[in-house]
Parts: sequence; C-alpha cells; structure tokens
Amino acid sequence: MSKPQQLTILGATGSIGSSTLDIIRLNPQRYRVFAITAQQSVEKMRLLCEEFSPTYAVLVDKAAADALRAQLGKQSTTVVLAGTDALCDVCRDDRVDTVMAAIVGAAGLLPTLAAIDADKRVLLANKEALVMSGDLFIKRLRQSKAILLPVDSEHNAIFQSLPLKAQQRLGYCPLEELGINKLLLTGSGGPFLNAPLASLDDVTPEQACNHPNWSMGRKISVDSATMMNKGLEYIEARWLFDTRQDQIEVVIHPQSVIHSMVQYIDGSVIAQMGLPDMKTPIAYAMSYPERINSGVKALDFSLLKDFTFQQPDFERFPCLKLAIDACYQGQSATTALNAANEVSVAAFLANRIRFTDIAKINEQVLQRIGHGHTRSIDDILEVDVKAREYSHTIIAGVST
Ligand code: NAD
Ligand code: MG
Repeated sequence: MSKPQQLTILGATGSIGSSTLDIIRLNPQRYRVFAITAQQSVEKMRLLCEEFSPTYAVLVDKAAADALRAQLGKQSTTVVLAGTDALCDVCRDDRVDTVMAAIVGAAGLLPTLAAIDADKRVLLANKEALVMSGDLFIKRLRQSKAILLPVDSEHNAIFQSLPLKAQQRLGYCPLEELGINKLLLTGSGGPFLNAPLASLDDVTPEQACNHPNWSMGRKISVDSATMMNKGLEYIEARWLFDTRQDQIEVVIHPQSVIHSMVQYIDGSVIAQMGLPDMKTPIAYAMSYPERINSGVKALDFSLLKDFTFQQPDFERFPCLKLAIDACYQGQSATTALNAANEVSVAAFLANRIRFTDIAKINEQVLQRIGHGHTRSIDDILEVDVKAREYSHTIIAGVST
C-alpha cells in the first residue's frame, strides 16, 4: 500500500469541506489531513482538530484563531495560524500532495493559485476562482505541473464523459479533434422553476436556500435559485474545457439524475448519472484515476418516475443570461459580475434587498464596471474591489 496522500482542505467547515472529510473517514488508509482552514468557526475547527490532528489549522479571523489555540491547549500537536497569507502557505507546503479548494467566493482565488503554482493536485470546487481569472488561471495551470480535477458535479460529470486525451489536457483540449460536438450542462432549475413569476419578488432567504435536490452552502443555494450558479458554471466550463460559444448548451433537468453530458459527432451522448450527492464527484476527484467508496447509495432506476428536460427561460432566470453574455465580453465582465453577485446575494441573505433585486444589481454593476482589460491578477483584484464598492452603493439606495 502506497503512503497516504497529504491533504489541505480549504473551507473545511463548509458543505464541500465536510463531505471531503466524510470520504476521508471512509478511506483513512488513503488520506491524511495535513491542514484544514476556515474563516472563523472556532467550535467546528476544534472538533476537527481533535478528530484528525492536522499539522496546521488556519482561521482567517485572528481573534478566532487565538480562541482556537487557547481551546486546543498545549497538548495539541496542531499549529494554529491566522490570516489570509497562511491559507496560501498551507497550500504551498512541500509536504502537501493534494489541495481541496472549497472556500466559497473570491476569497478562494489566491490560495487556489498558490496550490497550482506549487504543482499540487488541485481539486476545484471554488468555481468563483475560475470565473474571476479564467484565462490567467489556465495559463498558470499550463506553466505548472499541477493537476486540476473539477469537483463541481457538472464539470466532474463532463470530465468523466470525456476521452482520456481531453482529461489530460484540461484547459486546452481540442474538443473538435476528439469528435466532440457539444457539452450539455444540466441544471435542476432550482426551487422556483415553476413558481409564478410575480411571486419571486417576495421570496425569503429560507425559501431560496431550500433546494429540491441538493444540500449546499447558503451562497450557492441562492445562486441555484437565481440560476446564477449555472451561469458561473457556464463560465467555468468555458475555461476548463476551452469551448467556443456553440460548444456549450444549458439544459434544465429538474430531477438532477444526469449531472451533465458530452455529445459526440457520431450521435452518441455520454452522460454521468447518480444520486445528487456531492460525495460522488468529490470521491472521484480524490481518487482519480481510481475509484473509491464515497458512501453514496446506488441509483435505483425503479424509483425514477420522471426524467424530463427543458430549455432555460431567461425571463425567469435573468442572472443566467447575464453570465452567458459576460462570458463572451471578457475577464473584467465575469470578475465584476461575480463580485456583484457575492455582494447582492449576501444582502439578500441579510434581508436587505429582494430576491429579484439580485439580478438588477448584478446587471447595473456589469454595465458600469465590466469593461477594460485585465492583464494580471492585481488587475482582476482591482475590478473585484470596484465592483463590490459599486454594488454596496446601489444596495444602500435600494434597501430600506
Ligand atoms: P459553505 O458556505 O458551506 O462553506 C464555505 C467554506 O469557506 C467554509 O469553511 C468557510 O469557513 C470558508 N470561507 C468562507 N469565507 C471565507 C473567506 N473569506 N476566507 C476564507 N475562508 C472562507 O460553501 P460550500 O457550499 O461548501 O461551497 C464551497 C465552494 O464549492 C463554492 O465555491 C461553491 O460554489 C462550490 N460548490 C459547492 C457545492 C455544494 O454542493 N455545496 C457544489 C459545487 C460547487
Ligand atoms: Mg454544480
């Protein structure tokens, strides 16, 4: 038996982080937790430190890190670090083999890039990192010896349905040369697929977070309800699989059994299916090219009553349209849209704006900030900051 893979888990206390730790619990001989990180959740981190004895635990918030250090006491072997630089340090460390990038939002960009630059095996859940920096991200990947494996269920499904040659050239795979016609990105349509349009103004955060098929963090749950999530995934797919506009299509599939598909020129469509549980794509990325037990139950076809598909309605889901348009406008546009969306979703979750304001704010920010060239990560971070500032200004005018 080869020695266990040393893992850094960015965002260890979140939904993806917790599922990753569940898979490690099922396969303890294959993995060792080298570092765990979170923003500020002291109690959850204390329990994880006691269970996994990681070499490092990072809390971005300094007061939270001090509290965790005090609670663990002198007998603990875990070194507690604070701040954003420490997130990058525990990705770059020579002892680390694999980094699970599962921080939510733009905050995940720099540590994920640090893992790429340090030639790690990078399991990418943090789609916002790729949305913000697509071209530069893929360039950095190509310059490194890092291996990138998509965790997002749709991209993982597409990856599983692609030929080996494409899997080995993520970010620059010539789809046409491999006989691929199109990537079919499926999405459930979220909790409001069939709700009367007029009722969307009054949606509450609890209703928006109540996804019919998937259990996820709050930000991505709201993104699924607006279908901004599918828009971010469209941009993510564009970069991961180097597609042209005619090579990706969004298909609504409310049952979430098919997690995405690849259509070939001979008429074949290869789909990846399973129960809607992120542990399947996480386990696949962790063990690729092998397979391990994820703890997910087998799909029982006798229980599948409906199996339906439809086209997305942009009137119902304006965020999806905004994201697809931004994808072809350039890097400033996708960076600005991502930042605006993070701010507007947070404002909605804090009951400061209406559900339907999210798309309106995102559109205004995209129009004002989403132009100009970004040649470096610093340029991208500048667009991100400006878009956040402008979003806050609009929200101050909207909220009561
Ligand atoms: P979550 O909100 O449940 O967890 C987020 C994690 O990131 C937490 O550990 C939190 O402490 C940490 N974090 C938050 N803000 C931070 C900051 N500013 N600095 C450092 N750490 C910070 O989120 P999630 O649902 O697990 O999603 C994580 C990522 O995975 C997102 O990018 C999401 O789009 C993607 N993703 C999630 C799912 C899912 O099913 N949950 C599916 C596909 C992709
Ligand atoms: Mg997804």
